[in-house]
Amino acid sequence: MSESKRKRSWAEPFKIKMVELVHMTSREEREAAIKEAGYNTFLLKSKDVYIDLLTDSGTSAMSDRQWAGMMTGDEAYAGSVNFYNLERAIQKYYGYKYIVPTHQGRAAEHIISQLMIQPGDVIPGNMYFTTTKLHQELAGGTFVDVIIDEAHDPVNEHPFKGNIDLEKLEKVIKQHGADKIPYVCVATAVNMAGGQPISLANLKAVRKLTQTHGIAIIHDMTRVAENAYFIKEREEGYADKSVAEIVKEICSLTDGATMSAKKDALVNIGGFLAVNDEKLFDLARNMVVIYEGLHTYGGMAGRDMEALAIGISESVDGDHIRARVGQVAYLGEKLIEAGIPIVKPIGSHGVFLDAKKFLPHLSQEVFPAQTLAAEIYLDSGVRTMERGVVSAGRNRETGEHNYPKLELVRLTIPRRVYTQAHMDVIAESVEEVYLNRDKISGLKMVYEPEYLRFFQARFEKL
Ligand SMILES: *Cc1c(COP(=O)(O)O)cnc(C)c1O
Repeated sequence: MSESKRKRSWAEPFKIKMVELVHMTSREEREAAIKEAGYNTFLLKSKDVYIDLLTDSGTSAMSDRQWAGMMTGDEAYAGSVNFYNLERAIQKYYGYKYIVPTHQGRAAEHIISQLMIQPGDVIPGNMYFTTTKLHQELAGGTFVDVIIDEAHDPVNEHPFKGNIDLEKLEKVIKQHGADKIPYVCVATAVNMAGGQPISLANLKAVRKLTQTHGIAIIHDMTRVAENAYFIKEREEGYADKSVAEIVKEICSLTDGATMSAKKDALVNIGGFLAVNDEKLFDLARNMVVIYEGLHTYGGMAGRDMEALAIGISESVDGDHIRARVGQVAYLGEKLIEAGIPIVKPIGSHGVFLDAKKFLPHLSQEVFPAQTLAAEIYLDSGVRTMERGVVSAGRNRETGEHNYPKLELVRLTIPRRVYTQAHMDVIAESVEEVYLNRDKISGLKMVYEPEYLRFFQARFEKL
């Protein structure tokens, strides 16, 4: 093989300046900790965790430039310098005209839902997200899923499982009428589908269809840079465009956006609402002062807005995003090589284990994904999270468990936090549990909260 054809690895476009020491635990300590946590990884104390893959939300490592930016925080109540820096960054990298800062993504969802949705309205979207859907419902609307069917199939390798099914969307418009649809909610790198991207061709087609009906598009842009990277890699005509250019093109096809800056944008807290319509902006600016704070800080301190402005510029850098998605793919490919059943294609922000296939001898009544998450913690101190029957809750009418098609364990990778050796340790641990899978028995639930039970439910070993 010629030199130029040899595989070239991704690597981090940074070096490490400061480290945070973590606690290495013994098997005995982990046995005591997980028992005390009722075999629920949400109830573990972070000090007992070695590698924390619970979520990628607010868990990123900030750069030295961001930390330096924190020191330039202008904590004026009104008109902070950092607000204008943030406004400029959003206009420059995303292209939206007007911005309203908020403390995190769900606050932006609250404002846009209250302003645009009337009782009885219908909001189509490419798979629901928990807080997004809830705010749409609280405003009197109903969410309708119009994502392509492939998104619900864990082994289908469609390259753009975040795409919208145009026929489904057209049907919703016909059935309810365009005047009942305030906007289509388009998410990039769809979280609940496992971090799966939407293509620009699909987004353009959605734009064309909605424009003929006078329907707006609101963009859940939480992971827009990760989506843009997949477009560069997979979509025809985009290989030579930069991630930053693709991000801007995505945003240009939408009318506004809600952002949880705790994901893509590399900060520990923050978010915003962005719109292009001046009247809507006026209304949003008026509303933010009720729920969040003055329109030039929303829910954020000046220093947080500065860190976010810098984080946005770093997040659309091609080398950064290649390493970020590359690290997730590195872990996923290692697991595939070891024969571990995972959701495919590998997503942008994490790897999802298929617990039904991993533990085929356990029925959903004994919580295979919950069991698997506890076993991985026991083996190595790696904290993952259940996305299966526990998360799905109970049917309101019958009181029975909902049995979802997907019974998954999510390994979510924080940005710029862990090394390749950490990825190896994670893969080795999952493999070890897989080799001993026959000996694993399930769990029984001994405490069940009424709402969002996965956070606080407690279990015992069978
Ligand atoms: C995290 C997230 C949100 C909500 O944002 P918060 O900052 O947690 O309030 C909305 N949409 C998606 C896709 C998310 O991942």
